[in-house]
Amino acid sequence: MNRRDFLKISAALGAGGTLPTLLGGCATQPLPGSGQVSTTPTVCNMCFWQCAATLNQEDGRPWKVVGHPDDPHCDGRLCTRGTGGIGAYEDRDRLRQPLLRVNEGGQQRFKPVSWDAAFDFIVRRMNETGERYGKDRLALFSHGGGGDHFHRLLQAFGSHAYAHPSFAQCRGPREIGFGLTYGEGVGSPDRTDMANSRCIVLIGSHIGENLHNSQVQTMIRALDQGATLITVDPRFSVAASKSAHWLPIKPGTDMALLLAWMNVLINEGLYDHDYVARYCTGLEQLTAHVQPFNPEWAYLETGIEPTVIRATARAMAQAAPATLVHPGRHVTWYGDDTQRSRAIAILNALLGSWGRPGGFYRQEKVELPPFPGPKPPKPASDWKTVVQADFPLVGTGISNQLVEHSIGDDAFIKGWFVYATNLPMTLPGMTDKIKAAAESLELMVVVDTMPAEITGYADVVLPECTYLERYDDLRNKPERTPTLALRMPAFEPRHQSKPAWWMAKQLGERLGLGRYFPWHDYTFVLDWQLKQVGSSLAEMQRLGVKRFARKTQPYFAEGEAVRFNTPSGRIELYASLLADTGHDPLPRYTPPERPPQGFYHLNYGRAPAHTFGRTINNPQLFELMPENSIWVHPSAAALHRLSSGDYVRLENPDGKRSNRVRVRVTERIRPDSVFIVHGFGHTDDRQRLARGVGADDAALMHNVKIDPIMGGTGMRASFVTLIKSGGVS
Ligand code: SF4
Repeated sequence: MNRRDFLKISAALGAGGTLPTLLGGCATQPLPGSGQVSTTPTVCNMCFWQCAATLNQEDGRPWKVVGHPDDPHCDGRLCTRGTGGIGAYEDRDRLRQPLLRVNEGGQQRFKPVSWDAAFDFIVRRMNETGERYGKDRLALFSHGGGGDHFHRLLQAFGSHAYAHPSFAQCRGPREIGFGLTYGEGVGSPDRTDMANSRCIVLIGSHIGENLHNSQVQTMIRALDQGATLITVDPRFSVAASKSAHWLPIKPGTDMALLLAWMNVLINEGLYDHDYVARYCTGLEQLTAHVQPFNPEWAYLETGIEPTVIRATARAMAQAAPATLVHPGRHVTWYGDDTQRSRAIAILNALLGSWGRPGGFYRQEKVELPPFPGPKPPKPASDWKTVVQADFPLVGTGISNQLVEHSIGDDAFIKGWFVYATNLPMTLPGMTDKIKAAAESLELMVVVDTMPAEITGYADVVLPECTYLERYDDLRNKPERTPTLALRMPAFEPRHQSKPAWWMAKQLGERLGLGRYFPWHDYTFVLDWQLKQVGSSLAEMQRLGVKRFARKTQPYFAEGEAVRFNTPSGRIELYASLLADTGHDPLPRYTPPERPPQGFYHLNYGRAPAHTFGRTINNPQLFELMPENSIWVHPSAAALHRLSSGDYVRLENPDGKRSNRVRVRVTERIRPDSVFIVHGFGHTDDRQRLARGVGADDAALMHNVKIDPIMGGTGMRASFVTLIKSGGVS
């Protein structure tokens, strides 16, 4: 067992930088002067939408980053966060050199070491762990493309356990829910055809606040063309403000509304009879199932008037099939999330929108072959049957389950690689478990550009260079137009930072696994791949973005025979796989828990200036939004004697308290709820801007509901109260 003290990377290890100012310290220029302007293609990494962009420099100094006009992800325009890319490059608090945990005189601390020393340590620990427990006991947590290089490394070593928190803490329920219904998920970017929608239904969505670029642009286009927007949210969100109908639903009752909408569509005969007869199975069971759930029943659960439920169902039917009931993106809420996503999938099937203009289109990507190399060895055991045996319908890693199976001397997982994901602020209410896992693990390697809470538990911290300083894999996402985009370095890596592909290759060679990295430099891989599809690295360095012709049609043809990848080959309104695995084959409503007296539903969301906690310390974006605030209804504010601008601490029913956070009194939130933007409340000293500002919602989540089908963490079932705070942080 390795007891690890939580280590804050001291400012002394990273300070003394060349960037002089806290704010406005970036060397961005308002306009180019008479200097030499040069451009470099890149792909924005400020969130995971991956918009293609161009980095402009003047006389070798960063000037600005702008959207690529040929790119369908951004249509030539970056969002607020995307324009902050230079801030990430210039952040004075970046990780600068490899760090190794050492114990000197009974005190643990991080010591700056050479890359060789860091790699030697990791290789020694990997080999010792492999000899002692087996080579299949390492796990990878990653968010972002660079993680694929470590995935290759661990697979070559013999470990296949990996997880992206973007599954179990975000999109997983909809991918499983839609997969059970249509035989395939929604994908990312989402295959939503909003530009052609005549009616869009958003349920608890962050669109407009979480700026997934092309989604927001297409939604605005649809609204300009007269589409009807229906927004279901306890909060008057940005999207709600653009809506024909805002349904301020009681938190946790969305399933009741969805069942009532199905009830109306079926009982009023408003569903797409031809589409359902041609493509679906299970209408009979669904019809019987939804009979009790009429709008009058739903009113008592949701607080939404029966007339509104009927009117909105009819509006959806009137615009169908160009009606999109949006599947959402961050959909891990109450633990019944796969079932709620199933209900959304079913509603879309009744409206005939899957495969139709204005609903969901068929995606296509470029057929880019992988670089030739040996197949990784088969792991000694099937980690999924050990780590997530209770979730047989899930084919990918469930991050919270991997943590659970890393705790204790007899845990299956013995070592972690953590790439670009700050687990304590990502996995709700799991800081103590992450700490317990850190005490049990034989090795923890953290790879990132910035220090964060997770780096405090690492044995080794490896500084990655930012996206403006590196090549990465080609962006090749399934979408409407198959498109490749190139990210290439505009600058030499600052300090001693390095790209992920270089780190993985170096480790592979030291482990005797060099044959899995059969190239000298990653440009060789990119050029080889591009040549297989009639392009080249030289061409992409010039173009940045290249579009390819589609090979399939984006929509179903009239009367087309379609075989869906489900057991029946049809759209399954009644999910046979759920029945086979002991789950409800039709979505069932479970009333949510209500907050204790004096407590409120804790709702959280996004803001246009930040991506989770990753960008808070970015000097450009910090200037735009330096702290979060807690939205409080005037009735709750009166009860707690609060005014806008006061500071409070949030306290959950277990007595856990947040940092102080500023109050915003507003009628835009229900009286039984509060709302906060996620990502603030950092505790790591080395993030000198972000540390201590605002409150962290994830740390307050005391009532995390595990989805019984996909294992993810439902994060909207927690409660907080408001404790008036003085001026001290
Ligand atoms: Fe960058 Fe914004 Fe695109 Fe995300 S949506 S990749 S932050 S420009």
